[in-house]
Amino acid sequence: MAGRASDAPLSDRLGRPAGVLRLSLTARCNLNCPYCCPDNREPEGLLSDPERVRLVAVAAGLGFSTLRLTGGEPLLHPGLPQLVRDLSALRAVGLREIAMTSNGQRLTRRLARELREAGLDRLTLSLDGTTAASVARMVAPQASPAQGEHCLRAVLAALATARQAGFEPGAGRLKLNAVIVRGRNEDQVVPLAGLARELGVELRLIEAMDVGSRNGWRPDQVMPAAEMVQRIGAAWPLEPLGRPQHGTASRWRYRDGGGLLAVVASISQPFCGDCNRLRITANGMAHTCLFASQGTDLRQPLRQGPEALSRAIAALWGARSDRYSEERSERLRDPATATAHAEMAYLGG
Ligand code: SAM
Ligand code: SF4
Repeated sequence: MAGRASDAPLSDRLGRPAGVLRLSLTARCNLNCPYCCPDNREPEGLLSDPERVRLVAVAAGLGFSTLRLTGGEPLLHPGLPQLVRDLSALRAVGLREIAMTSNGQRLTRRLARELREAGLDRLTLSLDGTTAASVARMVAPQASPAQGEHCLRAVLAALATARQAGFEPGAGRLKLNAVIVRGRNEDQVVPLAGLARELGVELRLIEAMDVGSRNGWRPDQVMPAAEMVQRIGAAWPLEPLGRPQHGTASRWRYRDGGGLLAVVASISQPFCGDCNRLRITANGMAHTCLFASQGTDLRQPLRQGPEALSRAIAALWGARSDRYSEERSERLRDPATATAHAEMAYLGG
């Protein structure tokens, strides 16, 4: 890549390669999940869409070949199909896949079709319960059962709409994310698995994480992934498939042919050792770790041109040595070493 001293693949100080770029399009959201606590306003200095495309082009050239669009809620971003179309043209410079994570509330039939036609390869929709009451508990601190019912119906409609638009679950193009918080929706683990089996969609159950400093996270809110698997396996026996290299999720197969299940054990079994993800916020701050307190501002090198940007990304990746999740237990034992970290809706998960 022009502007770098070497053309060797990027590798950080722990030998981890570049792989996935998570690009947040907005810090705003139309929900207010209590484990996430989104901002109601954008950070200052939002990137423009042409800047985003230039940034992804340079990152793809450095080996970040998978792009995930996120937020906040990425469907709030105006002109999303055009942005995806422009990003899709970057396959010519090394981008291989474009994915998006969304709460699905705004996914109309037309938008789903436009996004698929524009080149969005994969869509993950988030839903944390199967009943109006459980969804209400997870989408906002004070949501009513009627609001829970509305959100639940919207996600179910989005799943159907996405499938019709060509996000084929059997080809891994459509998945369901659920965060499990002990004391809030732990009773939904088995019903969510049942719903996903019925729909033929892979469910990814995520341990509640201590991202940000507003969500009041406590270790006892974490249901370990092993317990989720044990509960589901008691209903439908499971066979382990392991965690793919650089993947976040350990996967399981239902022995009765009912499809796949995945669990993201970021607290109980951290996977920092082969993390290949770089996160870019909506205003161009690069964070190598979800739990980092500070990012690197890429706006200046971005505005200087591709060579400066390439050098800046290569430098920050080359200097990377964070493994926060693996060090969490030490930090919890010694609160004096704890630092404030950026909020989830700003970082984009
Ligand atoms: N708004 C979109 C959504 O909810 O799918 C995209 C952004 S959201 C920050 C990305 C993913 O992070 C979602 O699946 C969400 O459930 C998950 N998430 C948010 N806060 C989390 C937390 N504290 N622990 C674990 N997962 C979390
Ligand atoms: Fe919004 Fe997603 Fe955060 Fe929930 S998890 S508040 S849907 S950004």
